Amino acid sequence: MSALFDAVIIGSGFSGSILGQILARSGWRIVIVDRAKHPRFAIGESSTPTADFLLAYLADRWGIPELRPLSAWGTWKESYPQIACGKKRGFTYFAHSPDQLFYDCPQHSHSLMVAASQSDYWSDTHWLRSDVDAFLARQCVASGCELLESAKIEDVRRDGDHWKIRIAQEAIADETREWKARWLIDAGGGGDFSERWLGNRRDDAWMKTKTGSIFGHFQNVEGFGSLSSQAPASDPVAGFHVDDSAQHHVTEDGWMWMLRFDNGVTSVGIVQPTERWKPIETRDDAAMAWKQWVSKYPSLSQMLSKAKAVENNSNGLRWSNRLSRCRQRAVGDGWVLLPTAYGFVDPLHSSGIAHALSGVLRLAELLVKEGSVDKGTSSRWVAYDRQLRREVEWIDLLVGGCYRSLPSYATFCAFASWYFVSAIQFERVMASDPSRWIDGYLSCDNEVLQKKTMESFDQLSQQDEAANVKSIREGIHIWNDVGLLDRERGQRIPHTAPPKYAR
Ligand SMILES: Cc1cc2nc3c(=O)[nH]c(=O)nc-3n(C[C@H](O)[C@H](O)[C@H](O)COP(=O)(O)OP(=O)(O)OC[C@H]3O[C@@H](n4cnc5c(N)ncnc54)[C@H](O)[C@@H]3O)c2cc1C
Repeated sequence: MSALFDAVIIGSGFSGSILGQILARSGWRIVIVDRAKHPRFAIGESSTPTADFLLAYLADRWGIPELRPLSAWGTWKESYPQIACGKKRGFTYFAHSPDQLFYDCPQHSHSLMVAASQSDYWSDTHWLRSDVDAFLARQCVASGCELLESAKIEDVRRDGDHWKIRIAQEAIADETREWKARWLIDAGGGGDFSERWLGNRRDDAWMKTKTGSIFGHFQNVEGFGSLSSQAPASDPVAGFHVDDSAQHHVTEDGWMWMLRFDNGVTSVGIVQPTERWKPIETRDDAAMAWKQWVSKYPSLSQMLSKAKAVENNSNGLRWSNRLSRCRQRAVGDGWVLLPTAYGFVDPLHSSGIAHALSGVLRLAELLVKEGSVDKGTSSRWVAYDRQLRREVEWIDLLVGGCYRSLPSYATFCAFASWYFVSAIQFERVMASDPSRWIDGYLSCDNEVLQKKTMESFDQLSQQDEAANVKSIREGIHIWNDVGLLDRERGQRIPHTAPPKYAR
């Protein structure tokens, strides 16, 4: 079979499926190819106000009302109770020291809570990706896309002004089919499609952030709020319960995330800079490294003492020896990459889902408006390519500065303020008009903000924690109208995001 399609999309994660749906509803003939089969495990679960704005806007812009409920916890639970998610009222950061139970003081020098939404109903969410991605893939098929699961790409060739792709599918033994398409769209996340078939190599030696991670899904993870009287539960100023957040348990050499879903499952992962990281080869290595790290921190050990892995493999752990990556190019003649296929930095501060959605938004406009005129060569395509590089560099700076701040928890939280001011500025733009972002994704084209953040990164001193915090407090001053690093507020930042666009 070799009918001519408009595009082959590699990857049926949420970004490939949403883009596929938009294009199919715009009259494109689409094939989506995935080597996995839904429902499948996927990491990257904590959404943000930015992601929610983008999702609601995509739903309105392209007439996909089924997407809209996923942009807030209340509407999600009402419309799709069968798709597991978690309530995320904000970001929390807790300091843990080796061999000590977590403790705090009245000034909250060991905890930071930043609210991202005003109420449970309009709050952000954690996405149980196996459920969410399976739902979106089904929607994609209902919109007219062909979905090939458990599929293996056997050959990709340029033939005149289109592509020929040979694909074998587990379900259809002994048959390899050929597909012809005008566009190749790589939505394959951390996969190697563009390297293998388009010669698009990695170009990421320059990245400041170099971390590894071990992660898994668990039942019976004890709540941090119920752990001890020292751990804050519902905070009156921040306005939410600690377990309804993206929890960052920060240590002197990394951090652990905990994201709770409503079905009793918790996503847990350790992240550490690679200079502290012993490369992992096997599940046993992962289990050993996990155990050693967790056992150093009594409060984390206690929360995980009854935890049981959800997955049916030996210990339920997965790992990546290096998370950050970037490719040489995002665009070529007849091919284009979505943001996560192009580059990724780190889970810290949860910028990934929003970045992926921002790429869907931009590519949908470019492909539908310009797709038939040229294939990746006009100035708008070149701009997309350059823009993605600037965005990955920007996220790398915001996140890399936090790692550079370790072992100081105070400096880590202070540097995180650069992320918060960038996100807050961007969320205000999203709330008023999600289609136009003059200052770029997460305000990355705001030159003054960028210059100040870079200076702040360069000035970080391992010796002087107080000087670091003071200089960041002064640096963020012109954008900081929410009280970040304000001594009076004691590390409790009430609602930072504007009211949901979804409203
Ligand atoms: C450890 C970790 C933690 C993260 N935490 C967060 C977080 O808390 N919040 C957040 O916002 N973001 C987070 N992210 C980022 C998040 O994972 C991504 O933004 C998100 O997964 C992007 O979705 P996607 O659909 O673009 O790609 P993916 O979810 O990676 O989907 C890609 C799909 O393509 C398929 N595929 C890949 N290669 C091929 C191939 N060659 N042939 C056929 N199929 C292929 C795969 O099977 C997969 O189904 C995290 C990332 C990591 C690594």
